[in-house]
This record gives sequence, structure tokens and C-alpha cells, in this order.
Amino acid sequence: MSRRLQFILAAGLASLLIASPATAQSPVKVVATFSILADLARNVGGDRIAVTSLVAPDGDAHVYAPTPADAKQLSDAQLVLVNGLGFEGWIARLIKASSTKAPTVTASTGVKPLKAADAHGHGESDPHAWQSIANTKTYVGNIRDGLIKADPAGRATYEANATAYLAKLDALETEVKEAIAKIPAERRRIITTHDAFGYFGATYGMTFIAPAGVSTESEASAKDVAKIITQIKKQKIPAVFLENVSDPRLMQQIAKESGARIGGKLYSDALSAPGQQAGTYLDMMRSNVREFSTALVM
Ligand SMILES: [Zn+2]
Repeated sequence: MSRRLQFILAAGLASLLIASPATAQSPVKVVATFSILADLARNVGGDRIAVTSLVAPDGDAHVYAPTPADAKQLSDAQLVLVNGLGFEGWIARLIKASSTKAPTVTASTGVKPLKAADAHGHGESDPHAWQSIANTKTYVGNIRDGLIKADPAGRATYEANATAYLAKLDALETEVKEAIAKIPAERRRIITTHDAFGYFGATYGMTFIAPAGVSTESEASAKDVAKIITQIKKQKIPAVFLENVSDPRLMQQIAKESGARIGGKLYSDALSAPGQQAGTYLDMMRSNVREFSTALVM
């Protein structure tokens, strides 16, 4: 092959690469408020988008204090994804302060909200809707539609990615239901540090009891702890669990004094670091169900 022909071929290839939409334009900048939402967006957006999460993996969105860097992220964003249902109490002010022009998509739009338990420091609705996979499918639909609006040229990609991911959620749902069905009904009762599993419990038939008066924001008093221990003994609750966003010491103390088994770590409001046991939404749900099964199946 002559050098000239090689050059022409190379130049042709280069122009082809430049013309293809994935490389021709820089990725759509998407800012999600927390890691679970960011993961869902990555699954729908693929290479067409670049997602950042304001609250990092293992971070607690309830007590998050936004930084000036977050405002800058928002002002550069082309799309902002929030959970809604009062989860991110700090987001409205941050969006205003950033003077971003990006549209905001509320991922939980269309979800039927559960009432928040009294113990939890949110608003009137329980915000942890993603703990029911059926709700997460609604999130994915909202994210897909938001991306199509922000980047109409990517419609085919977003639709195909969303369809593929929804199929994975269907499979996950079957897996979760089968795993919970193996736990004897009378043992499907758990105490967690903050009341984040209401949707999971309502959907899959488990009872989650959050220690009264305990949220990720406040510490339990000695009186609260005594009450919880009595409750565990009286109701014969088999296991207590730790969460990645809450202080583990309280649950360790409660387990020790009540004789309840201490389960593994649960992921409620945030993923783990990428590559660890709950680095994606799919892995997070699998990891939690595995912990329930380990502690509760006899
Ligand atoms: Zn929470």
C-alpha cells in the first residue's frame, strides 16, 4: 500500500470518527444528588453522558452540607437529577445559589409515596422509594425522559439503554422475591438504625423496625436504647443490622444487650465505593437481600 493511500485511509478514518455522534460532541453533563441516582443515570445515559454525584458513596444525604464546588458543578450541569420526596432538604437552596440553567428531573415523580415513620427526620413522605424495585423502574423512566429532553439526538440510545436496564431490574425483582420467600414469615422482622426500608418491607413482605427517636441525625439516649432492647426481647426480633450511613456503635450495643444477632452491613441511602459489594444499585439490592437471608433463614 502506498504511503499516499495510507494517508488517505487514515484521514478518512479520522473524519469518520469525528463525525460519529459519540465522539463528535462532548458528553452531556449530568449532576445527581446521590450515588444511587448517579448509577441509574449511568445505566441509561451510557457514554453519551458524564455523571457526577454530589453526595459521595457511603455518604449521608440527610445531613449533607453542600460546598462551593457543588454549586459550580450545578452551574456547569446540563441536567440535574434529584430524588425528591423531601430527601435532599438542601437542594433547592443550592440550585438557586448556583443559578444553574439546567432542568431538574425529580426521579421519584409518579411513585406512590409511603408516609414517613415518626422516627425519621424527613418530611411527611418516606423518601427512600428506591428500596422497592418497582419504584426504581419509575425512576429509570423519568431519567430516560429527562435525558431525551436535554439531548434529543440521543433518544435512540437512551431508549435502548433504559429498556435493557429495565430488563435487569425485572430479573432482580424476581431474585429478591424468591430470596425473601425462603425466609420463614415469622422471622422476617429486623431492626435497622434508621427507617429506610419502608418501601422494601411493604413490597416484599418484611417488617423493619427502626429504633424510636433515632435518625441518622440524632443520637439515641440511654432511655431509647433501653426501650429498644425491651422491644427486641418482647417481640423476639431475630436480628439487628448496621447501615453504611449510620454510626455502627448503637447497633453493636443493642445487639450485645438484647442477644439479637447482629446482621451484616446494609446499604440504604448510598452505594459503597465502586467495585465493592454495593457499588451499583443492582449489587446494593443483592447485597442487602444476601444479608437478610444470612441472618434470618434457619
Ligand atoms: Zn435515609
